[in-house]
Amino acid sequence: MDQDTGEAPPPNAGKTAACWARVRTRLRQEVGDVEYRNWLRQMSLAGVEGEAAIIHLPTRFLRDWVRDHYGDRLRMLCQAEMPGIRLVELRVQAAARAEKPGIEEDVAELSPLAESLAPISAPPIEPVRNDWLVPLDPRFTFDSFVVGKPNEFAHACARRVAERPAQAGFNPLFLYGGVGLGKTHLMHSIAWSLREQDPNLSVAYMSAEKFMYRFIAALRSHNTMEFKTQLRSVHVLMVDDLQFLIGKDNTQEEFFHTFNALIDAGKQIIISADKAPNDLSGIEDRLRTRLSGGIVADLHATTYELRLSILQAKANVSGVEVPPRVQEMLARKIASNVRDLEGALNRVVAHAKLFGRPITLESVPEVLSDILRAHDKRLSIDDIQRKVAEHYNIRLTEMASARRSRAVARPRQVAMYLAKQLTSRSLPEIGRRFGNRDHTTVLHAVNKITELMAEDPSFAEDVTLLRKMLEM
Ligand code: ADP
Ligand code: MG
Repeated sequence: MDQDTGEAPPPNAGKTAACWARVRTRLRQEVGDVEYRNWLRQMSLAGVEGEAAIIHLPTRFLRDWVRDHYGDRLRMLCQAEMPGIRLVELRVQAAARAEKPGIEEDVAELSPLAESLAPISAPPIEPVRNDWLVPLDPRFTFDSFVVGKPNEFAHACARRVAERPAQAGFNPLFLYGGVGLGKTHLMHSIAWSLREQDPNLSVAYMSAEKFMYRFIAALRSHNTMEFKTQLRSVHVLMVDDLQFLIGKDNTQEEFFHTFNALIDAGKQIIISADKAPNDLSGIEDRLRTRLSGGIVADLHATTYELRLSILQAKANVSGVEVPPRVQEMLARKIASNVRDLEGALNRVVAHAKLFGRPITLESVPEVLSDILRAHDKRLSIDDIQRKVAEHYNIRLTEMASARRSRAVARPRQVAMYLAKQLTSRSLPEIGRRFGNRDHTTVLHAVNKITELMAEDPSFAEDVTLLRKMLEM
């Protein structure tokens, strides 16, 4: 402790310091030396305020980065190692030995000047091990990727690149599509497949975000040469979610040069993004041109058939019986993307395992009520009324009118029936939307339509068709 002030150190200071040292050691073990050195080494414990450990970092950039990427872990470790600590507060405070204590240096927006920005305490230049080779997710292989219409082209391209990397016409491979449609899964599949064929092949997979932060870290520690050499030594470079490089000019520049160097050297590049190269705004034209220079393949939104096949495949390996009717219901209701679908299935399966109860059509809506409600928003009662009115050629206002003639009453009942089937609205809620009718009227409509469908196949077909159109 500070001997010069003449004050006695607080009684527990030594113990706290020892606890803090343990937190740091554990963190270092968890994240590895390189990451620790880049981001965490400059943390210092400033003290304890109540139940909070106060941790200082020299810049706002570092503070934000640590908070966003290690915050939870840091808090948990402090809770585990430091008695009485429940919270962690990260503050910006230049290290005491810095010349102007308290000055904030915000390097989040790196300009070309960044190169000359002296790091607060330059880490010693040591050989950084090649840790571009991040662990691949063992679940993401070609074997577990279900192929259907929306993804067959992207899948075929990925297979082709995995078989014969760096072939003209397929380099770079640019995969794009909305979230949760399988871009990362396909990239990892290619990497697995390449590694299997040749364990000596170096395949670097990283998110564009990681690329950017590695690059910034290299700038900070004056290690850009090493960064470049390392990157350019790989055989295959995969950069996931390229949209995150948008607007980050100097990182984009670096990426562009790496890209060119690799392509020129006959290496394979695989990129993913949420949009096609031409639709990515904020990307320089010359980069855009190069990105489109190989093959561009998109992953389309899923179809009901693909969702069902995916559910079947995943249910098969879940270890729990998932009845076909439940699979159909999930495939119908959770149409946003595969990630959501998987999340819903996982929850249903976990629930069944935890409580030892079978999965049924009745239990699922309860287990998934929040998820289903969120997805229902996509199909509103308005949509249903509009579609049904259009189909039977009646005016939309008839849905809420008091008229009871068969020509309008039957379509109205169909709409109520569909609202009950396709949304999670309650009977009274539905009634209100149909000219303030009572919930018993809605119930009557549901029963009536069910009855008619059983009696009259052509009516049943009609309603089923409407339902399909609404679900598309
Ligand atoms: P993206 O990177 O496009 O956002 P991911 O590749 O992370 O999406 O996919 C989200 C989740 O959905 C992953 O768990 C992935 O395994 C799964 N998934 C996506 N598409 C398929 C598919 N065709 N077959 C099997 N699983 C899939
Ligand atoms: Mg992804």
